[in-house]
Amino acid sequence: MDTGAQPPLISVRGITRSFAAGAETITVLRDIDLDIRAGELVAIMGASGSGKSTLMNILGCLDRPSSGSYHFGGRDVGALEPDEYAGLRREHFGFIFQRYQLLGDLDAVGNVEVPAIYAGAGREPRRARARELLGRLGLADRLDHRPSELSGGQQQRVSVARALMNGGEVILADEPTGALDTKSSAELIALLLELHRQGHTIIIVTHDPKVAAHAHRTIEISDGRIVADSGSPPDNGGRAARAATPRRAGAAFSAATRLREALSMALIAMMAHRMRSFLTMLGIIIGIASVVLVVALGSGSQEKVLENISSLGTNTITVRAGSGFGARNAGRIETLVPSDAAALALQDYAAGVSPAVSASATVRHGATSASAQISGVSGEYFALHSYVTVAGSIFDAADIATLSQVAVIDEDTRDAFFERGADPTGEVLHLGQVPVRVIGVVRAGGASFGPSSLNVWMPYTTVMSRVSGQRHLSSIGVQIADGHDMAQAQQQISALMLSRHGVQDFFLQNSDTIRETLTSTTRTMTVLVAAIAVISLIVGGIGVMNIMLVSVTERTREIGVRIAVGARRSDITAQFLIEAVLVCLIGGVLGVALAIGGGMLAGSLTDVMRLSFSTLSIVAAFLSSTAIGVMFGFLPARAAAQLDPVVALSRD
Ligand code: ADP
Ligand code: MG
Repeated sequence: MDTGAQPPLISVRGITRSFAAGAETITVLRDIDLDIRAGELVAIMGASGSGKSTLMNILGCLDRPSSGSYHFGGRDVGALEPDEYAGLRREHFGFIFQRYQLLGDLDAVGNVEVPAIYAGAGREPRRARARELLGRLGLADRLDHRPSELSGGQQQRVSVARALMNGGEVILADEPTGALDTKSSAELIALLLELHRQGHTIIIVTHDPKVAAHAHRTIEISDGRIVADSGSPPDNGGRAARAATPRRAGAAFSAATRLREALSMALIAMMAHRMRSFLTMLGIIIGIASVVLVVALGSGSQEKVLENISSLGTNTITVRAGSGFGARNAGRIETLVPSDAAALALQDYAAGVSPAVSASATVRHGATSASAQISGVSGEYFALHSYVTVAGSIFDAADIATLSQVAVIDEDTRDAFFERGADPTGEVLHLGQVPVRVIGVVRAGGASFGPSSLNVWMPYTTVMSRVSGQRHLSSIGVQIADGHDMAQAQQQISALMLSRHGVQDFFLQNSDTIRETLTSTTRTMTVLVAAIAVISLIVGGIGVMNIMLVSVTERTREIGVRIAVGARRSDITAQFLIEAVLVCLIGGVLGVALAIGGGMLAGSLTDVMRLSFSTLSIVAAFLSSTAIGVMFGFLPARAAAQLDPVVALSRD
């Protein structure tokens, strides 16, 4: 066979190829020996099903033989790693298929440049070369046409340009005229002959004897064996020359280029299936929006609760009658008395002491009457609980001592009895038969806590003697002076009260412990609801994986084409992974926008809820949507990268 002095470019020895078909194996190629030298034009002929395409796929490094050896340019192809195998395909071979195998989403230039993308060529030189090749093949005015806008002959010329993109040292054409009309066939054959004259090695599969007549060497295959070989012409090896190839870039530049191209491919694919991409994103959008909203709602309500607690006073310990909060006997315990308050006031840890009694009474002013909460307190009470004086003043020690019939009211009470916004100081309210003079109006420092009722505050001495008639207090608030430890003060108060009363008929409430309890309660709630939102996010991620897996199946042929022109497995993985991450990331952006927009809308409609968006939760949302993209995109991406190109290309 090899008659020339030059070593063969392609050297195949004892190759067989068999496929498993159920329980049995079909042997398609049997014991093939073949040498092809650089610059040859070889026609492979044979009946349909004789194994021509199988041989071509092995020669073009799309498929590996079951046994036997294949040397290309002296290198043992069988020993190559998958990436080196892809490199061989990319650098040395150009495939031309019967059905063109162009990528439908890309225009002519986009299709032709694909092999150079995987070779890592820069965008501009690559596109310039693609345009130049297309121009040389008579498609200068079809550069931005998509395959569906081109005739069969034009599509096949685009695929020839693609085969030449990286040099096309060996062009493998598998029945290239099979789908063309007579005129286009003739043009294509002329083109291949021209390429052969320029030095390309051309192997062409055909069962058309007219095509074969142009070839300088004809090989005939029947039932997986070479039955005839006209042999290499003695003198054509010397002319072989490789066509000019685009200049290769460095490895780092090449990786960056490939990554950028994978990104733009992912964008193209997403734009080509806008509706599906959006529906895929929907799960992520809803998931991210609900996580961000729930976290914002959680921290918003926590802030609100903390504000409300601040109206309880800071550093305050409250002594209450009874054995615990809400105990049933509390009302009957009458041992907490004003002298307890006086004793507490003498302690050095007490910055302020506010005894309190409460009663409810019907309050009347002229023809208006309403029931109100009457609190008997001392003047310190208002500072202790961060009330702000809106009008007039609050009562002082003299009022306490003289049992003054004066009252401080809140704004609701003012509005209930007097003209809204009017200054009621000096006006007289009647509590049953007792007349009291309004001397001030106050407003709670924080938001009101619990259902608001009408509040009237009076000196506790006045309430005890003239309104309720009781001689005991319901609580004593003690503000702890700065520099004193709350826990220690609490113990001291407890000891003092115990020594005065002899029995534990009181309990202490610490504003800090209430704050902690409420804060941890809202935090627990937030974590709980956020967990539910995270579940919805995971469901969204599974949705993305599902669609991506479908997309891999749908785009099998595209993946096959990319592998055939030299994509590495990592290129295919990157493309699908980036697509999944992009879907999730865009979904994340839309989700955050939806959450903030929805939160603003809800905020303008009602002030019941408070949303507090934190940068942290938004950053976390982007990170988690990216992570979901990587996590759920990995499986489909790997499935795509592991497709067998030969099987993938034969898909419709
Ligand atoms: P040709 O191109 O000469 O028409 P092929 O090389 O495509 O023939 O196929 C040769 C034989 O191998 C056919 O009978 C085909 O059914 C079989 N064949 C090809 N690929 C596979 C495969 N992946 N699995 C099983 N059988 C296959
Ligand atoms: Mg075939």
